[in-house]
Amino acid sequence: MLTSLRKIVLEFSQDSALDSALTRIVTQIKTVMRTDCCSIYLADHQKQHFILMATDGLAQESLGQTTLGFSEGLIGLVAQREEPLNIANARQHPHFVHAPAVKEDKFNAFLGTPIIHQRKVLGVISIQQEQARYFTETEEAFIVTLAAQIATAIASAEATDILTKQQGNSQWVSSIKGVAGSSGVAMAPIFSMQPNIELRSVSLKQTHDVVHEQQRFLKAVKSTRADFERMTKELARSIADNSLDIFDMYKQLLDNANLGKEVSEKIAQGWTAESALRLVIDGYVVQFEGLDDDYLRERASDIKDLGNRILYNLKVLNTTVQAVPESFILVAEDVTAALVAEYQHLGLKGIVSLQGSNNSHAAILARALAIPAVMGVNRIPLEKVDQSMCIIDGYTGELFVAPNDALIREYEHLIAEETALTAKVKEVEGLPAETPDGKTIAVLLNAGLSSGFEHTKTTGVDGIGLYRTEIPFMNKSCFPSEVEQTVLYQQVLQAFSGQVVTMRTLDVGGDKALPYFPIIEDNPFLGWRGIRITLDHPEIFLLQVRAMLRANANIGNLEIMLPMISSIVEVDEAIRLINQAYYELSAELEFEQGKSLPKPKIGIMIEVPSVIFQLGELAQKVDFFSVGSNDLTQYLLAVDRNNARVANLYNSYHPSVLKALNMIAQESQRFMVPLSLCGELASEPAGALLLLAMGYDKISMNSHNVARITWVIRHVEYKTAKAILSKALTFSDTQQVIDYLNEQLELLNLGGFVRAGM
Ligand code: PEP
Ligand code: MG
Repeated sequence: MLTSLRKIVLEFSQDSALDSALTRIVTQIKTVMRTDCCSIYLADHQKQHFILMATDGLAQESLGQTTLGFSEGLIGLVAQREEPLNIANARQHPHFVHAPAVKEDKFNAFLGTPIIHQRKVLGVISIQQEQARYFTETEEAFIVTLAAQIATAIASAEATDILTKQQGNSQWVSSIKGVAGSSGVAMAPIFSMQPNIELRSVSLKQTHDVVHEQQRFLKAVKSTRADFERMTKELARSIADNSLDIFDMYKQLLDNANLGKEVSEKIAQGWTAESALRLVIDGYVVQFEGLDDDYLRERASDIKDLGNRILYNLKVLNTTVQAVPESFILVAEDVTAALVAEYQHLGLKGIVSLQGSNNSHAAILARALAIPAVMGVNRIPLEKVDQSMCIIDGYTGELFVAPNDALIREYEHLIAEETALTAKVKEVEGLPAETPDGKTIAVLLNAGLSSGFEHTKTTGVDGIGLYRTEIPFMNKSCFPSEVEQTVLYQQVLQAFSGQVVTMRTLDVGGDKALPYFPIIEDNPFLGWRGIRITLDHPEIFLLQVRAMLRANANIGNLEIMLPMISSIVEVDEAIRLINQAYYELSAELEFEQGKSLPKPKIGIMIEVPSVIFQLGELAQKVDFFSVGSNDLTQYLLAVDRNNARVANLYNSYHPSVLKALNMIAQESQRFMVPLSLCGELASEPAGALLLLAMGYDKISMNSHNVARITWVIRHVEYKTAKAILSKALTFSDTQQVIDYLNEQLELLNLGGFVRAGM
């Protein structure tokens, strides 16, 4: 039976059409279980009923017609109880409902089991038999196991099915779920990219005209390189960000020494330019796709994209270019950073990528450009959705295709609210974050990884509270040199001279991988990460610290922050290395008499719960604390922040997280250590108010939230924030906290700032 089960589940999940998958599976179940009838009902949550979707045994005419209310009949009972129901004689059961259309009069035995995905009943599988008997335990176990296994496939297949149903039924709108890649909401027609030219469709051909093919290839490479130069220039106008380094990889690959050389060699062997290109790109893609490392696997799509671009330029003369609408949501199988760059100035309102995750360069770039993005949305037929109206919610990672009027109105309202708020909050740009009764909190910028280093655009910040140094390390093919790092850090320190810049030492591991330094672990968030790596590799740590100190030599606004600290010895060891770098560099730099290398303050991130209980000892050793609430939430609640399955359990408003944050604030005040928070909580209105009330000195956030949070703080009395905090700390459940905070924000006329689910 196990083999049958595996086979049935595999075939089901491999079928791209839900209808045919259901039709096949009912027959397979009926055959394997040697019974007389198997049917599947799926839930329509809008209409609160089950629809008969597939059957082998009941009347075929009733398919798609027969419905049962959520609490109606035996099907409703199975769903309500969320457990199997095994009855020898169904018609004698008090919940039995006679539905003549399905023609089930001859059946007596009934076994129903719910199909549940993420606590939601998606449908019910029922087995019926003429002989009045109870189904055996083995039969029951088989059907329960099968239902659990096909639930995920049904949930994702429904996404595709929704699209079809929605076209003809404006009442029913369900969302298609992906991964939130970049926050914000957008509504526009879909511009679906179906590249006319794809390398995979090139058939391999030989030629005698090697010289001509070499020339064609060189020309195409030149045009492709020019395309990248143009894109980089256009992008640089929008962001001054090291996300642009993404294109360095493309440019490096185009160099003669790399991909270019290999293609030329293939042409020299007699292949046409297109064939040679395909052979070389395929080779790279296979290599990259075979790697275990997520980051490197993502690079396979960059290489495919590069190949398609060169191919485009090889064929450009006989290609028709797709007209780009005035405003649009870009939907493509694999939205790459290059695609985002190409369309960002052309009315691009949002991004939906069927592949990729929030670690993809496209998502990183979307965040830098403040364009909402939903990544990893599986199974959308691109050709079907092209030009359909669509809403994307980059906060929740949802996509609505062909939304009905009610949903459009709801989102129009949200977008209008967002736009109005953005305009309104601009009034406070440059003003301090000070409550009407005189309490101030410093607002700083998170830069580096997600929101980019937008010094030219961000006014009203008191400096950089978190500079994530990972990106310069991620976009290279080896660790960046001391000189490279120095130049980069100097730019940042210089741009904020006179204000503090808190640079965090390398925090890779967990979900942030370096292409040239793969770390394969079963539990990466509990593994070799952050300071654990850099202490094990003092050569990397010392190099980075030296670069920071050197960059700071004539500016003097640097602070160094250590990530993932979980014990005192790590702090001692890191400080020892920082001192070593400091004294060595001081000696090397030969300062004029009376001058010396500025000594930066050193702080730690509080993100591992163990350090909350050693703040007194840590206070003797460091100059400041900064709470990383993203990780602190993950470690306190034991919920992987990147795992969609437990995403509903990850919440920084969990009472224990709030209590921990409050305790950290009290302890920091007691030990007189300046305290900041640089996780996402700081950029939420309710979060910022709570942190202000707890006594945090600084909050740090991405540039898009600075004005919004400053506005909120300038409109709430400190004493009100204190009262809200006292009450918020009394709840025992996360939802109660959230409801209470939403209610208070409404009362303060700040309701517009609250996004669904916070
Ligand atoms: C955090 O953990 O809250 C934090 C700011 O660091 P990161 O998100 O980079 O892990
Ligand atoms: Mg962290």
